[in-house]
Amino acid sequence: MKAHDGMYIDGAWRPAAGPDVIEVVNPADERVIGTVPAGTAEDVDAAVRAARAALPGWSATPPAERAARLAALRDALAAREEEIAETVTAELGAPPAFARTVHAGLPIAVAGSYADLAATYAFEEKVGNSTVYHEPVGVVGAITPWNYPLHQIVAKAAPALAAGCTVVLKPAEDTPLTARLFAGAVDEAGLPAGVFNLVTGLGPVAGQALAEHPDVDLVSFTGSTAVGKRIGAIAGGAVKRVALELGGKSANVILPSADLARAVNVGVANVMSNSGQTCSAWTRMLVHRDQYEEAVALAATAAAKYGERIGPVVNAKQRARVRGYIEKGVAEGARLVSGGPESPCERGYFVSPTVLADVTPGMAVAQEEIFGPVLTVLRYDDEEDALRIANGTVYGLAGAVWAGDEAEAVAFARRMDTGQVDINGGRFNPLAPFGGYKQSGVGRELGAHGLTEYLQTKSLQF
Ligand code: NAP
Ligand code: MG
Repeated sequence: MKAHDGMYIDGAWRPAAGPDVIEVVNPADERVIGTVPAGTAEDVDAAVRAARAALPGWSATPPAERAARLAALRDALAAREEEIAETVTAELGAPPAFARTVHAGLPIAVAGSYADLAATYAFEEKVGNSTVYHEPVGVVGAITPWNYPLHQIVAKAAPALAAGCTVVLKPAEDTPLTARLFAGAVDEAGLPAGVFNLVTGLGPVAGQALAEHPDVDLVSFTGSTAVGKRIGAIAGGAVKRVALELGGKSANVILPSADLARAVNVGVANVMSNSGQTCSAWTRMLVHRDQYEEAVALAATAAAKYGERIGPVVNAKQRARVRGYIEKGVAEGARLVSGGPESPCERGYFVSPTVLADVTPGMAVAQEEIFGPVLTVLRYDDEEDALRIANGTVYGLAGAVWAGDEAEAVAFARRMDTGQVDINGGRFNPLAPFGGYKQSGVGRELGAHGLTEYLQTKSLQF
């Protein structure tokens, strides 16, 4: 157990204004592994003032120099790769191999992508008799969740810094240690004081103060739809920019011509990865009625194999929520074919990999984000029915289509109301825009599209 002091504000670790701390718990054994300061509105204000003061200098820094600092940041993260993976394992419970490749590896790659983009992006363009400058929006308030602790931070901070914005981050209370490692990397990378600031704290206290701060120009939030709606309302009331990355209930559509076993196995892996705590997870598997029982049997077998391999969910509240959904699904008439609500271990917030069959589109488990290792399998009659079901939720973040012929899968994907679709198991692309249709959010992250979120245009006419 280690008491971590201070918050990274204006280029140094400074004591918090108040005495309160947050306990960080290892979800695999329920032990307290450390504490961090619980920041207040006073700390947020100090951080925003530092970010405001640093803005003129950083926004005027040539993009090539910003790119060099981002490359140094990527290198500082890469030098901490092992420590990042261990920290994510300790505070989120991610299995070590997954922590290394995804939780540490992906954000290092994303940081590198923004070093490249800062160096190559056209921050100035000619449009007829105008010169259009792409200028930074200003001070960014970033509020991030715990499910991919470092990725969610880098997906906001790296494009914001590349754009010339300055940043105040309020990370999730469950995973603040990874955020502290990121601040350490920023410090080592030699970013000027105040360009990036970290305030650890509780959402309704520090998070809310950041979203409401009049000197924050853009709020970028990733998390639940409930909190996202409040933040959108606060930002709307103040006419400030807002980006919202919210939940999902993505469909994995297996067309009759697909390789059924492959589609089911990859689909189950997609849901179980990170213990189901992925906003873009394909939590609804859609199968033609003629292949339905075969798919359910394949899914049950595949899920059972994950029993030993997935980590816990993040905390006791999340475990109770996931179990509650499994029970609700069964109460609504779903058939439990793998896993279940009982705890598989005595210690730790574990949930068994669970497959619910005979799920119909109106059930809560087919409509609401569960955020745990729970797959629902739905049957469809024909392609039109599959499309109706796929599009029949308030969400639209991701999805998958499988078909014997790629063109057939693409034709179906083009009719889906969703921001990303993987065709026949296509790989995740960290440069492709990521974000939601409908209530999955507002705005896009990653790649050049993620950079433009942090820019505003100024046109000079000649
Ligand atoms: P959450 O409460 O929305 O947390 C996201 C972030 O917002 C955290 O940093 C949180 O701080 C902060 N926050 C909470 N209340 C706030 C407020 N009133 N004003 C400003 N910031 C606030 O999400 P959660 O409770 O951790 O998870 C609940 C559900 O959200 C999950 O079951 C899942 O369905 C969904 N979720 C989605 C994503 C995604 O990537 N789309 C990620 C995580 C969760 P604290 O950490 O102190 O709460
Ligand atoms: Mg919360």
